[in-house]
Amino acid sequence: MLDFNGQVIIVTGSGSPKGIGKTIAKTFAAQGGTVVIADMNTEGVANTVKEIEAEGGKAFGIELNVTDKASVDNMVKTIMDKFGRIDVLINNAGISQKVTVEDMTLEDMKRIFEVNMFGLFLCTQACMKPMRAAKYGRIVNLSSVSGKRGGGVFGGAHYSASKAAVLGFSKNLAREISADGVTINCVCPGLINTEIWKSLPKADADKVIDGIPMGRPGETQEVANAIVFLASKEASYITGEEIDINGGSHM
Ligand code: NAD
Repeated sequence: MLDFNGQVIIVTGSGSPKGIGKTIAKTFAAQGGTVVIADMNTEGVANTVKEIEAEGGKAFGIELNVTDKASVDNMVKTIMDKFGRIDVLINNAGISQKVTVEDMTLEDMKRIFEVNMFGLFLCTQACMKPMRAAKYGRIVNLSSVSGKRGGGVFGGAHYSASKAAVLGFSKNLAREISADGVTINCVCPGLINTEIWKSLPKADADKVIDGIPMGRPGETQEVANAIVFLASKEASYITGEEIDINGGSHM
């Protein structure tokens, strides 16, 4: 078991009722961390906080729109005023859209990048300042297998492009900040058993499963396990790296 006692961990997009972010937040809380539940979905934020507290964990909820610099700055100021530290940032908030390039509008492209890349940039930039000052920090970004080999049944080329951008951004930033004790890494999940997977027609689901050597989608806990490791003190010499969590669908 890893130890996050005394640490403050922000998980963006952790208000989704059945999303990956909530499982990430619960996993940190179970290992002693104080978790900041930050999401646009304020009802989801309140519910996640309640669930974590009911399990004996420590959580603090805050409304966050990652695309709005004022909202991001407010989150960081609120956390620094209240806790005086930010040890870990998990950039999990993300959106997708199923559309072909032929039918895609420039607005579609901008909307996806606004959240998946520009929002991640704003959160990272705001959090890395107190991390650098403390000479310690861990940033883990949610990329995707789609960013490495193109998407499948769920997303469009704009989603894949935004997740590839996250990889390039993270590697470049690793060169800038790692000497200050702040590491930045990515995870690239394949198909994960969330609501979107459950909504897939059986014929499409079977086709997807055929391409996964492990023969099943991943569980949110399996993504959280890798993230929590990268965010731990123990992962001290890993930076600019990406971990595939995809059951072998892309090797
Ligand atoms: P989800 O839709 O269940 O949750 C995403 C959360 O992000 C929601 O709670 C939403 O309110 C929040 N969000 C969206 N825009 C926001 C904004 N502007 N500001 C703040 N919060 C915002 O998604 P999920 O399936 O749990 O995916 C989580 C992350 O993992 C995403 O980055 C996604 O791209 C990535 N991912 C998911 C899968 C999968 O199979 N589900 C696979 C690979 C990567």
